[in-house]
Amino acid sequence: MAAAHGMSAAAKATANPTSRIPLCRADPELFFPERNRNTGGEAKRWCAGCRLRTPCLMAALDRQEPHGIWGGLTPSERADLLKRREVIANVTAG
Ligand code: SF4
Repeated sequence: MAAAHGMSAAAKATANPTSRIPLCRADPELFFPERNRNTGGEAKRWCAGCRLRTPCLMAALDRQEPHGIWGGLTPSERADLLKRREVIANVTAG
């Protein structure tokens, strides 16, 4: 076990699929494509397999997070989802 304490977050997250460490902690740079000129595709693939995806996305929507990939969605995708949520709320409010 001593070796496990010396492992980086990236090594722990990728070596153990049941790790409690979210994959975004292994390489946070991937999750901010607007800063790093990547497309965000790799981050989205990681989010797709993350057990925290739903609460992560809900928290990002609640705080209207303007940057990065959260819960597998880009800022513009989250903005679209929020608009649809408002439309549904207005329709159901009568
Ligand atoms: S769903 Fe959230 S917690 Fe999970 S890898 Fe993606 S950004 Fe990280």
